[in-house]
Amino acid sequence: MSPRGLGAHGLKRGERKMGESELFLVTIYSDIRIQRLIWRPATLMSFDEGGVISDVELVEKPVIVCDTCGARVAVTDKDVEEGLPMGYALCDEQYLIEVVCEDCRRRYFAGLRVYRSLDEALGGDDG
Ligand SMILES: [Zn+2]
Repeated sequence: MSPRGLGAHGLKRGERKMGESELFLVTIYSDIRIQRLIWRPATLMSFDEGGVISDVELVEKPVIVCDTCGARVAVTDKDVEEGLPMGYALCDEQYLIEVVCEDCRRRYFAGLRVYRSLDEALGGDDG
């Protein structure tokens, strides 16, 4: 189906150990659930010498970037209007694996289907 037959070999960074679960992409700006997932603050924990948690820090993300190349990506309608590269969530049926920009999508994931929401992706091919 993909125009240049990238298929499985397009997955450069591939950490596909889990077998056959199918990967797909969802445009971030069009799915509120994905937006909530990617904006979750990172948690930094410190431990004392006895292995007890001594400090927990939540770090808010100022912007969302492509996990592959580090470019800032569009995650809202406004970002899209401002001309930022489209941001995609690379997902399988259970997890959001990483954020991908337009360039990296074309380079590494050209064979994957793109959906506008998780509902569309997961509910689509049931019958
Ligand atoms: Zn990228």
